Amino acid sequence: MRKTTISLIKCDVGSLAGHHVVPEPLLNIAEKNLRKARENELINSYHIFNVGDDLQLLMVHGRGESNPEIHKLAWNTFQEAAKKALELKLYGAGQDLLKTAFSGNVRGMGPGVAEMEIEERGSDPIVVFAADKTSAGAFNLPLFRIFVDPMNTAGLVIDPDMAGGFKFEVLDTMENKSVVLKCPEEMYELIGLTGTVGRYMVSRVWRARDDLICAVGSVTKLSKIAGKYVGKDDPVLIVRAQHGLPALGEILVPFMHSYLVAGWMRGSHWGPVMPVGVKDAKCTVFDGPPRIVALGLQISNGKIASDDDGKPMVADLFDDPAFDLAKREAMEYASMLRRMGEFEPARLGIEEMEYTTLPQLLRRLEERFKPF
Ligand SMILES: [Mg+2]
Repeated sequence: MRKTTISLIKCDVGSLAGHHVVPEPLLNIAEKNLRKARENELINSYHIFNVGDDLQLLMVHGRGESNPEIHKLAWNTFQEAAKKALELKLYGAGQDLLKTAFSGNVRGMGPGVAEMEIEERGSDPIVVFAADKTSAGAFNLPLFRIFVDPMNTAGLVIDPDMAGGFKFEVLDTMENKSVVLKCPEEMYELIGLTGTVGRYMVSRVWRARDDLICAVGSVTKLSKIAGKYVGKDDPVLIVRAQHGLPALGEILVPFMHSYLVAGWMRGSHWGPVMPVGVKDAKCTVFDGPPRIVALGLQISNGKIASDDDGKPMVADLFDDPAFDLAKREAMEYASMLRRMGEFEPARLGIEEMEYTTLPQLLRRLEERFKPF
């Protein structure tokens, strides 16, 4: 069976008007480099997009996960775009490029990575999620709903091919350890861990009966790489659909309602997630609300299935009135939270604030504290 790799590598290389949006000249650099890589047959297909200030390189190829040439292509593209951002004096030029010497893999260097090597099925529908102004824990809740909750995913009850459930790899970002949990048997343990969204993050999901890979998320913690707050992790997630996996609609239904995620302004606040079409994937109010897009595509003979002109066909799944309720809820939650200003729980708890600039500021008061 043909093996195909889907690599989604993203980076904030600088943006227009604060943390708002990746402007055209940076997208053009990505387009030029990936087009050349396709001509040279390094990759078979690509799609470039942005969610807010994050430049997203979706590449399909036959070179497997963590391939140094693919990672180098992404790294060089981000470097070149960051250079352009610096020339244009855009905001946060090269923000996520935390290391200088490239050593074969962008993991641990700042960019976010989700990669999945698959054996192509008869038809392989894929959903790519990308979020801005939040962290990888933002996908913990929807991943639980999609792969464990029978009230969300009818197939868990109805489809004999899903009997046996799914296995989750959960990363502990504090200890740098991971554990695999099998659901439904260990669903309470899964919730016990992944309910702590700032620490535990789902990195992979497999179908339990045959270990078929179903979902891969990026689990970068930029603050852990840099030792301080340098920007939001802004995660990406790749999910396979249909044929004994959750249907496309079951993958999207968790986003019918908004929910709260960590990030937003200065990576220091709880904010409501807002599912939007790509045209609305730009952050405004209090640098948000955190936006998420979902792209639908088909993997076909080593490529993204393309139209008659050879252009990859990509569906903008949240560009749909079905998500208007979630958008409205997001603005209602946003207005409630912003009324609370800098008071918890609108602001993140003290553990998360440790990586921001707040502790520096509070240290100035240290000597003025007297025994009480
Ligand atoms: Mg961002």
